[in-house]
Amino acid sequence: MILYSTKHQSKPASLEKAVLKGLAEDGGLYMPEKIPQLTANFFENISKLSFQEIAFIVSKALIGEDIGDNDLKKIINQAIDFDAPLVKLEDKIYSLELFHGPTLAFKDFGARFMSRLMGHFLKEKNQQTLILAATSGDTGSAVAHGFFQVPNIKVAILYPSGKVSHLQEQQMTTMGGNITAFEVNGSFDDCQAMVKAAFMDQTLHKLNLSSANSINISRLIPQTFYYFYAYAQLQKQGVRKAPIFSVPSGNFGNLTAGVIAHKMGLPVSKFIAATNANDTFPIFMRTGNYQPKPSVKTIANAMDVGAPSNFARLLDIFGSKEEMEKMIWSQSFSDQEITACIKKVRSEDGYTLDPHGAVAYLGIKAYNQDDTASILLETAHPAKFLDVEIPERLAKYAKLEKKSIKIGNSIQDLKKALI
Ligand SMILES: *Cc1c(COP(=O)(O)O)cnc(C)c1O
Repeated sequence: MILYSTKHQSKPASLEKAVLKGLAEDGGLYMPEKIPQLTANFFENISKLSFQEIAFIVSKALIGEDIGDNDLKKIINQAIDFDAPLVKLEDKIYSLELFHGPTLAFKDFGARFMSRLMGHFLKEKNQQTLILAATSGDTGSAVAHGFFQVPNIKVAILYPSGKVSHLQEQQMTTMGGNITAFEVNGSFDDCQAMVKAAFMDQTLHKLNLSSANSINISRLIPQTFYYFYAYAQLQKQGVRKAPIFSVPSGNFGNLTAGVIAHKMGLPVSKFIAATNANDTFPIFMRTGNYQPKPSVKTIANAMDVGAPSNFARLLDIFGSKEEMEKMIWSQSFSDQEITACIKKVRSEDGYTLDPHGAVAYLGIKAYNQDDTASILLETAHPAKFLDVEIPERLAKYAKLEKKSIKIGNSIQDLKKALI
């Protein structure tokens, strides 16, 4: 796979380079030069395939030139060792449950696949790397878990002090080993800006920095798998028409992966980009003005992003807002709407949505097209945010001792801490 930078200044890169570097030298995001097409035969038989079989076929089409079949199979079987069931909530409304991984959030898919793909390339080159990741909550815990004890890799996670949930913080700060947590006196946007600045800083080159945020292309690859798998499960239920996918969006990595799946041939009638009060993207879709702004705190806090990092990729794929509109519809929802929605769905459907899934559900209702099935991406287990029973694989973190390093919110603070 050859990848170009969305800023078009850096030279095209190999998959290995894009995965190990994360961000291109010109500050752009890597995108595949060609998006491969899957065969009609694949889609006809998709309902007979397992999740892992689908993942293998999709990833082989994308990155089969760069990695042998056996290594790819091994990575998939280790990384994607949990299910993503499609659950019917109402007539024509389904929930794709992406929270059955170890940290109960969909970011497990990206983190687990990326860590093993990086490990594969580092082993080939006999190199070490330091992963720098900014998190508003879920990325950090998924990355800490995904990379824990992977040889040749150290991880530094930056999170905004006091702005992540207690359990999210516990998951990032209690693992130890090759995982270090920096507690930043600032916002998530500060953390993201510090990480970006660190990558541009010449004096940090010797640390061989690498990225694990949704800017890394290797996170998008496994996130395409479950769009195909959702379609397979719909086929099994006899639903033939191309579905609508409603994606609760923050940095828009999940949505970008869906668009890539669609470009590979997956039938999709529309993507709904549902956001919380952080409405930079819906405003762009209404006005054509892209105006990043500071994030605001909401109860769907893993999507508290005012400057979505994958916007550059989306714009590059579509070329213009007009082209985007053909495939994407977008709306933002307030905390009150989210809270009311969780109550309503719990009482009417007997299903507990988490705040992020609720944003996606609200998107489906607001878009209001019921000539085909709509699938909401349920990105986190409700126990992560609401007062429902916490599964043991998460609860165990609450009892462990927090170990974080407190730092200020400037690049100088980060440099001092790293060197
Ligand atoms: C990160 C996250 C999102 C947003 O995903 P993006 O790819 O950043 O748009 C939604 N829900 C949950 C639970 C998340 O952790």
